[in-house]
Amino acid sequence: MRLVVGAATDVGRIREINEDSYLVDESIGLVAIADGMGGHRAGEVASATALEALRASVTAGHPLREAIEQANEAVFTKSLTGEEYNGMGTTLTVGTLAAGGTLLVGHVGDSRAYLLRDGTFRRLTNDHSRVQELVDDGRLTADEAAVHPMRNIVTRAVGVDPSVAVDVYPVELHVGDRVLLCSDGLTDMLHDDAISNVLRRETDPARAAKSLVDAANSAGGVDNITVVVVGVTDEEPARGSSPPPPVLVAEGVSPAPAAPEPGRPSRRRTVMRVLLWVVPVLIILGVALGAIAWYARNNYFVSANRGFVTVYQGVPGGLLWLDPTIDRRTDLRMTDLRPSDAADVRSEPTFSSAGEATAYIRRLRGRAAAATTTTVPTTTTVVPTTAVPTTTVAPGP
Ligand code: MN
Repeated sequence: MRLVVGAATDVGRIREINEDSYLVDESIGLVAIADGMGGHRAGEVASATALEALRASVTAGHPLREAIEQANEAVFTKSLTGEEYNGMGTTLTVGTLAAGGTLLVGHVGDSRAYLLRDGTFRRLTNDHSRVQELVDDGRLTADEAAVHPMRNIVTRAVGVDPSVAVDVYPVELHVGDRVLLCSDGLTDMLHDDAISNVLRRETDPARAAKSLVDAANSAGGVDNITVVVVGVTDEEPARGSSPPPPVLVAEGVSPAPAAPEPGRPSRRRTVMRVLLWVVPVLIILGVALGAIAWYARNNYFVSANRGFVTVYQGVPGGLLWLDPTIDRRTDLRMTDLRPSDAADVRSEPTFSSAGEATAYIRRLRGRAAAATTTTVPTTTTVVPTTAVPTTTVAPGP
């Protein structure tokens, strides 16, 4: 019995980054897919980190469940090393070839494993998702779940918590079986019937994987799509054909996944472009507000406050957020002013310096004093002159 593996991954038609990863290592009989989740490339880091740790653990001889638990630890530990990795996680669906032709399928999340045997296509894994729980409770049908708006909410993921519960399914492989591992980017786009039709039509695992990705893209490609197809055969490799490389590592499984791909604008570059516009606008706005503030603080006006002539700093009525403030109170009463001067003060005359305002008040005071000194004598002199005739006495006979 021999396994022939084909795999394909694609960013899809909507997303800018492929956060899925897959791993095919024929030397240790290991295949896996991971669908990462998390902000700003963290999902990509989560899925790659999980697969690297998984391979290291399986290579070291650990059982499948333990290897997935170690992958969980690796992603969780990595998530604590930087704010950008906070809360990241990944699905992980793994197949390992055990002794006696048994395939052990290990599984966490909402990626899936399927088996096509003797024309019958069935799912091997149970989704760890909110909608699957509703299906299990009998509150949703499988068809309703497939289009449910909450179908992408996972209830279990690798790397989110310090420990994780792993499902393991043993599958006794038969010659002619086909095992499919895929991310939800395939199953959200294609009904199970459509998927199994492609697998029946394309017997070559590599061509089947590519056809499935193409079909998902034709159906919309709203998510990253990753497919691993495993064919079970008893045929020996054809004579003369070059033997497969002992280790096949797929794209997405790279030790340093950080460099942005050319041609696709990275978020950092978008931020720079926005800053190039925002910074000059902020500078111009700052200068304008500074000029307004300068104008408002270098302006004075005279007005009445509680019946006294008062000097204000600022602009009458205020300017934007700059209310005028009292610069100087005087003891000059509005009632002491000549009526025309009082009216002038009520119109709040403005001055470009405190000195000019003071000079204006000095002129008001001078005219008020002059008015007072001329009225007082006239009222005091009237009384004697009118009283004089009453003192006249007529001569007696
Ligand atoms: Mn996905």
